Amino acid sequence: MKQSPWWWDSVPRTPRPADNSVGATLALPTDIDVLVVGAGFTGLTTAMTLARAGRSVAVLEKEAAGYGASTRNGGMIGSGHRVAFTEVARQYGEDVAEAVLGEGKLALSYTTDLIEEENIECDFVRCGRFRGAWRAQDYDAIAREADILRAKLGVPIEMVAKADVHKEVATDAYHGGCVYLEHGGLHPAKLHHGLLRIARDAGAGVFEQTEVLRIRHDETKYVVETTRGVIRAGEIVMATNGYTTAAAPQMKRSLIPIASYMIATEPLGRDIVDALFPSKRMIVETRSRHCYYRPSPDGERILLGARAALNHINTARSGLILKDLLTGILPQLGDVKISHSWLGTLGFTKDHLPRIGRDNDGVFYAMGYSGSGVAMAPYLGWRVANKVLGRAEGNTGFDPMDFPRVAFHPFIPLGLPFVNLWYRWKDIVEGS
Ligand SMILES: Cc1cc2nc3c(=O)[nH]c(=O)nc-3n(C[C@H](O)[C@H](O)[C@H](O)COP(=O)(O)OP(=O)(O)OC[C@H]3O[C@@H](n4cnc5c(N)ncnc54)[C@H](O)[C@@H]3O)c2cc1C
Repeated sequence: MKQSPWWWDSVPRTPRPADNSVGATLALPTDIDVLVVGAGFTGLTTAMTLARAGRSVAVLEKEAAGYGASTRNGGMIGSGHRVAFTEVARQYGEDVAEAVLGEGKLALSYTTDLIEEENIECDFVRCGRFRGAWRAQDYDAIAREADILRAKLGVPIEMVAKADVHKEVATDAYHGGCVYLEHGGLHPAKLHHGLLRIARDAGAGVFEQTEVLRIRHDETKYVVETTRGVIRAGEIVMATNGYTTAAAPQMKRSLIPIASYMIATEPLGRDIVDALFPSKRMIVETRSRHCYYRPSPDGERILLGARAALNHINTARSGLILKDLLTGILPQLGDVKISHSWLGTLGFTKDHLPRIGRDNDGVFYAMGYSGSGVAMAPYLGWRVANKVLGRAEGNTGFDPMDFPRVAFHPFIPLGLPFVNLWYRWKDIVEGS
């Protein structure tokens, strides 16, 4: 079992020092207009937008470009947030809730248009996403939420009765569900590769294996200490999401880094995969410790993601846990072989909604995607670049929301195993 993302087999993730347009061999600039920290989806669309607007831009990445969640995720692209409309409305009022949920729709349009307009070959298909109801009452909750999203935002959603679940996926695990017709699937490492190319072509320098250690401000500019020297920058954008370090202390204290795990099966053959996924959709579910799974873009295998744990455990162990979850949903897979097992880190906010803005030191940020960033991260990367440029396109529905610190932040790693146990217990008690 390989302990690296299946996506990396086709788009390797090692820094390429031999390529003098990327990599650690490039000399760092000493003075630039904007410094972007993190070379994932967010950082690259920020850099592309700023470079096209004529700004000198450097993207600093402490590992290889795309080392973070952007090339480790499930490749499910959608318009949704993790939080239901009624919950956002309860916390922030109906107007903010409508604006925030509307941002999800805009994010999906922005990112899919970008893929099309820039000819990014990333196996994108608008196949729809099935959401399975784990409990009978979840079906009613999904139906209520679908009514709200249809009425307020015109989101096309179809309900699926329990008797029709097999048309979506060959399992008895769900009490019906719904299909988000506009959602789709893609190959995230290919999308990342395309964004990297575009950012570089636009004139942004991407410097790998270069970690930002400390940021301060003198009379005129930010002074940024890195592992490869000091850079002065007019503005800074943090695009580090779940990988945020102490270089951005305010953001670090406002995010909860959560591990998320994935596996890929060995090739099963198209006939078997087609029989298991007749509608060829992305699949998610309502269970607390939910699984998300899909056919691979080549239709040969199944990829599944879930919380094997909330903290970091080794991927040999998580591979076995996820295999059990997969065969629990699709017992006909029997003793299926797992070829890849990997993990990535999500950046959760307290309310599970993304954040974009500036901290008290004037540093810009876009992060907190809480596990739903394939559409949202490129979109907010573009929005935050527009904030830097002072353009109206920088305004978003998230702007009225502050980015509060998480209480007892240093103790979170200690608490995560207990929260995980709580979710497991809840699923067993509430299970079908
Ligand atoms: C296993 C998994 C499955 C997921 N599945 C889905 C899915 O199916 N659909 C969906 O919508 N979302 C999914 N997500 C979430 C999505 O992948 C993320 O929200 C998105 O990729 C975030 O992109 P980003 O560019 O903001 O951050 P990242 O891609 O995480 O990039 C941040 C980068 O910042 C770098 N960095 C951090 N600190 C520093 C520093 N001080 N100096 C230099 N560099 C630094 C890191 O090395 C990292 O490469 C998933 C995530 C994971 C982990």
